Parts: sequence; C-alpha cells; structure tokens
Amino acid sequence: MGGADAEQQRHRRLGEGHHDEDATPVEAVDAATRKLIDDMVESMYAADGIGLAAVQIGAPQRIIVMDLDQREGKRNPRHFINPVITWRSEELAIFEEGCLSVPEIWEEVERAAKIKAEYLDREGKRHEFEAEGLLATCLQHEIDHLNGVLFIDHISKLKRAMVMKKFTKAAKKGVSPALAKDKEPSHHIG
Ligand SMILES: [Zn+2]
Repeated sequence: MGGADAEQQRHRRLGEGHHDEDATPVEAVDAATRKLIDDMVESMYAADGIGLAAVQIGAPQRIIVMDLDQREGKRNPRHFINPVITWRSEELAIFEEGCLSVPEIWEEVERAAKIKAEYLDREGKRHEFEAEGLLATCLQHEIDHLNGVLFIDHISKLKRAMVMKKFTKAAKKGVSPALAKDKEPSHHIG
C-alpha cells in the first residue's frame, strides 16, 4: 500500500460509505500496516480527535489509533491492531460522545464502565489489558466503527431520527449541519 491518497485522507461522514461495513482483520503486521497507522495518527491530530478507526479514512481494516493526552496538548499515540473486547463490566458509565464521522453532534452514550481487550501492537506483538474511564469509552466507540456501528446507534430512536433528519437536510443544501452550538465539544472521541 502506497499510503492513503487525498480522497481517502478526508474523513468519511455519515452517509458517505464504509460506515456500515465490517472492517477486515490485519493478517500480517508489516511496513504497510505501520504506514497506515502513521497516516491515521496524522489524520487524528489534524482533526483534533482523541481516537480514529482506519475505516474513517477509507481503509476498512481493524486498526485503531488513540491519544487521550491530545486533550492536554501532549502527544502519546497508542495503536491497536485487531482489537477484541474479551470482557465487559456489568457496571455502566455515561459519557457525552462526539464523532469525526458525525460532526457537530454530541450525545450521552451508556457503555460498559470497564473492559478487557486484546490487540496487536505495531510490531505484531499481542497484548491484553484492562481499561476504564475515557479509555474504555473510546475503545468501545472505535471498535464499534470496525463493526459498522456509530455512537448514534446507541442513542434513542427518537434522537437518532432527529440527527439523521438534520444530516439529510444539510446534505441536500451541501453544508455541514450546524448543531449543538450551545454545547462544548468536551468528548470529541473520533
Ligand atoms: Zn467515531
């Protein structure tokens, strides 16, 4: 793979494809995988996100990048190849989430408060770890992307219908939906 071209680098938005497809597991972690990861990290920082799934830049592979320190202006990128959630706590947590693929929408989403997950690092080495707080939320949000699920699939049908309506209207006018202006984008997850 010679790196994502300009079209692929642009963040895909709701209704622009790839959001309802399952991403494919990475069979061998190689130089092309690491190049894609570097492109993803760059795209994540450019968009001020704290996480990004490969599918969001048009690469339907099971890869996630994340940097929670990005909020404090630090750079500490993490990479998760073929991430799998192996355990979810019964205890739930609510975060207000936003998504680069659904711009200008922030909604409270309830997810497992703690998870255990496995993944490969950029050298292909397997790791297992436990996450809670924003890390657990962000991982679940990004892994959802790999399964064609968006955070708005977790909100009420009524709210989702409102979001879809605003996106359809905005798409007809060719503009980005101007929504939630009264809200601070506190958890713009990616
Ligand atoms: Zn997202």
